[in-house]
Amino acid sequence: MRVTYPRCREPLVITDETRSRAERYDRYRYPLQEEVVSCELATHTPETACAAYLLHEEDPHVQVWARWNPTGGPVHVEETTACPNEHDDAPCLLFHTHPGPCTWAITSPFDPPL
Ligand SMILES: [Zn+2]
Ligand SMILES: [Zn+2]
Repeated sequence: MRVTYPRCREPLVITDETRSRAERYDRYRYPLQEEVVSCELATHTPETACAAYLLHEEDPHVQVWARWNPTGGPVHVEETTACPNEHDDAPCLLFHTHPGPCTWAITSPFDPPL
């Protein structure tokens, strides 16, 4: 039986500061289109920071993620490699050393009902 975990989905409004820090990593200078992103981790405890994908770099294995604590504090913009795990040829879409399960075990709001 396939066990899935609901996605956290905590929203993060992209401020001008977060936007300029993310775009500084991007060698192609793609603008960050999103105004609001949401946590892509499975639901987690408050001790774990939320995480949302922002941009990728020229090297597709290098990604830029926002990490933040939903109870407040600064938003961290981090450069990281992708999670190396695969499942049935589907790569995990989260970052390396992410907490919790990989993306194939997380229910997305866009997934059809099981
Ligand atoms: Zn979260
Ligand atoms: Zn993973």
